[in-house]
Amino acid sequence: MATDNLISGIFNYCDRWCERCRFIDRCAVGVEEQMFWEKEKTVKNEEEWKKLVTDTLSENFAQTTEMVQRWFEERGIDLEAILEQEHDAYERSRQELAQFAENDETIKLAKKYTHKVMRWKGRRNEKWINPEKYIQQFDLGIRSEVEIREEFAQIDNYLSIINFYCTLIGTKVHRAVTGYFQDKDDQDWPELKRDYLGTAKLCGILITRSINAWISLSQLVPEIEEDAITFLALLQKLQRTMKEKFPNAEKFIRPGFDTIAE
Ligand code: SF4
Repeated sequence: MATDNLISGIFNYCDRWCERCRFIDRCAVGVEEQMFWEKEKTVKNEEEWKKLVTDTLSENFAQTTEMVQRWFEERGIDLEAILEQEHDAYERSRQELAQFAENDETIKLAKKYTHKVMRWKGRRNEKWINPEKYIQQFDLGIRSEVEIREEFAQIDNYLSIINFYCTLIGTKVHRAVTGYFQDKDDQDWPELKRDYLGTAKLCGILITRSINAWISLSQLVPEIEEDAITFLALLQKLQRTMKEKFPNAEKFIRPGFDTIAE
């Protein structure tokens, strides 16, 4: 794998939608992903696919373990001794963090959005788009088949954005807020370079794109307008809360996305 063109750490603040990413050839995760897709093409059945996933995960795990061990060896650090000493402190802070996350209103709000959209997806059936409307428009010559197909492609795109981001919003808000809880007092690292701030910036992007997708979708499919209003209200509240919590998020510079123009 060629590594000289890769952008370091780009995958930390992206939406993980590699298929649509302009940096797929310049990201270590994107390059791995493409190799996986190539192998996936040769898979003939479910058994082979499960084996491929298991093998890939084991391979990645082995590579990461080896990399970490080498890093410690080069610095003459005894990893096992550190793990032994750190275990109790880690366990205490892990429990403290879990309790904080359970009670935090922003995390609860993000989770609520995720769960509500998941339930909505489960409830929604094919009848939510009225085919009669399209047949009539076609019969009356109001719209051509191509135009109708284009509209369906747009609907599909907005739904994909909503689906893809609804779980990501929950996990990324959790990461930003808990990261802030852990690192807010870290004086060794400037705030504008802290991981939680980059994640908060990403949350803002995911929320804005989801808001746009809901608005555009409800314009094309008025049948969902009532549901869309509920989701938009949740997203807007989440957006406001995140801005209040992370007023400097916009200033964070994400590698690649904020440094290389489209
Ligand atoms: S930066 Fe792009 S290619 Fe890399 S993990 Fe994120 S979405 Fe995928």
